[in-house]
Parts: sequence; structure tokens; C-alpha cells
Amino acid sequence: MHEYRGVIHVHSTYSDGKGCVERIVDAANRTHADFVILTDHNTMKAREDGHEGRHGGVLLLVGEEITPNTNADHYLAFGITSAIAPSPDPAKNVEAVRRQGGIGMIAHPTGGAFVKGEYMEYPWTNWEAGPFNGIEIWNHIYDITGKSKNIFQLALYALFPWLAPYGPEEGVLETWDYYVSQRGRRVVAVGGVDAHGIIGDYEDDFVTVSTYILTPDPFDGTLKHDSALVYAAIREGRCFVGADKVAGASSFRCQVESGGELVQMGGTAQLAHGATLTVSSPGPGLIRVIRDGVLLMEEWGSSLATGLDRRGAYRVEVKRKACRRYVPWIFGNHIYVA
Ligand SMILES: [Zn+2]
Ligand SMILES: [Zn+2]
Repeated sequence: MHEYRGVIHVHSTYSDGKGCVERIVDAANRTHADFVILTDHNTMKAREDGHEGRHGGVLLLVGEEITPNTNADHYLAFGITSAIAPSPDPAKNVEAVRRQGGIGMIAHPTGGAFVKGEYMEYPWTNWEAGPFNGIEIWNHIYDITGKSKNIFQLALYALFPWLAPYGPEEGVLETWDYYVSQRGRRVVAVGGVDAHGIIGDYEDDFVTVSTYILTPDPFDGTLKHDSALVYAAIREGRCFVGADKVAGASSFRCQVESGGELVQMGGTAQLAHGATLTVSSPGPGLIRVIRDGVLLMEEWGSSLATGLDRRGAYRVEVKRKACRRYVPWIFGNHIYVA
């Protein structure tokens, strides 16, 4: 498997971002990202203008953040070919992405933000809106804006982002597990930066929350081949969310070996005698194994192996110790044991 670091959810001057596409790919190259998914509000003009493709070491892909004028229900669309006009009904946006064969991700599901000095909320309002593909479980900008109770805290967290109580928003992990384990849905978790180049520069944002993908083949430098690898990995959940602002998250692995078969995140393993889940963390941390939304075990270390004797959806998260407390760091997608 080959690993690539993705910076997902970025805004440019095509909507309300401060930087042009050249500025963004420059920041991505400087921070050694492998791919960037641009998601401007309600436009894919960057694609029409021919910006999609390789820029130095970075693959730039253009999606859209479908943004109704209701201050709610922001929906990230990847792998679509033409911009989708936002409907105030999120179910219509979910369906429009599906019709184009795209991948739809619920953005910052509960997040709040300060806009012109006023606190606004931008939540996802209808979880039954149809077959969304995944959830942006961790949004870097909402670590700062959504967790500030007033304008003074906002200024404090903008200046010293590591002081903000960061991590996935409240209830998001539970919702994700609910759809996977209780509703039998394949729901993929990604992490986004929501970079606008306003609170912190693009370079700062691009080393905060990454989505790492695993691909069977390496990138070959062409848009067609490499974009297909990125979208397949995200669609299938062959990816993990890593907060590089906590510590470098590259090289996290979680897999199930069962009946002589090795299955990665996003895959399905058939339960056989001697089935084993193995985890390898890029550094020591509290490794937690969760089955069907329930904590199965947790252990401090850089690796873990445990036998599996029950079917279910397994996922692993790793917490890191910082300032004498455990902080969220890495979230792997589910492996389905059938
Ligand atoms: Zn948004
Ligand atoms: Zn956004």
C-alpha cells in the first residue's frame, strides 16, 4: 500500500478564501502535501479554468462546498464534474452529488463560527437526508471558531491555536458509529482544514488536520490515474484522519488478518479462527479499539495486536499525551468483520 497525505476542504478567491489557486498550491508544496481538494462555496470555476492537475509535487483536485443560503447543511462534494446549485433542502444536495457519481461529505456537522463579530451556527440539520458517503469528523477551523465562547477567546485561539480544546465536535463520533453499526451504512470519516487563508496562513492550516489515503498503486503524475486513486480510497474508507498539529500522523496502520487474507481500513474481512487486528502507530499513544461504537480495549504503546472472535465494525483511534492529558490524534476508518 502507498500512503498519500491529503489537505481537504480549502477555499480560494473563487469564493471567500484569501488566496488564489497559485498561492494555495505553493503552500501545499511547501508543506509537502500530496494532494489538495479545493472546495469553494457553490462554484467549480477553478476546474473550468483548468487548474485541476499536478502542480509540482501536489495534485490539485476541485470539488465544491455546496452551501445553501440557510446558514446550515454545508455539504462537500468530491469527484463531480459540474457545480451543483445549492438547494435549501439537504436531501436534494445529497441526491445531486449521488446522481453525478460523486462523493458527498457532511461538513462541520455541528460547527459554529464568528462571522463579522456575531456567533453563527452552521449545523447539519437532517441526518436522514439520504445516502451521504461520509462525515468531516474533524474540521481544523472549527477547533478555533466553533470552540470560542466569545470574541476574546476567538482572538486567543487564533493567535495560539494549540490552546483551543481541539478534536472532533461533540457527538460526531457517536453519530458516525451509529450509522455504521446500527444502520448498517458505510460512512467514511475525513478530516478537513476549511482553510481560508484568514485565520492563519494556508501554510499553517495545511499541517493541522490531514486525511491520509492508502492506495494499491503509486501515483503516476497524471490527473486521470491519480484522481481515480484518491477518490476510490476516500469512497471506500481506505483512509484515516491524522492531526499533524498534535504530532506527525503518517504511517498509521490498522488491518485485520483473517483466513490468510489481509484487510485494510474500509474493507470487509470474513471472520475465521485466529483472526487478528493489528495496529501500528507512528508514535506512542493510547490506542483504543472500538467495535460497533463500544470501546473494546485501550492500551498505551506504539503497536497493538488482538484476536477477534466476533463480527462487527471495528475502528481504532489513538490519543496522544500532551500537557498531562490525552488529546485526540488519529482516527482510522472502520474495518468490517462479517
Ligand atoms: Zn462550511
Ligand atoms: Zn468551508
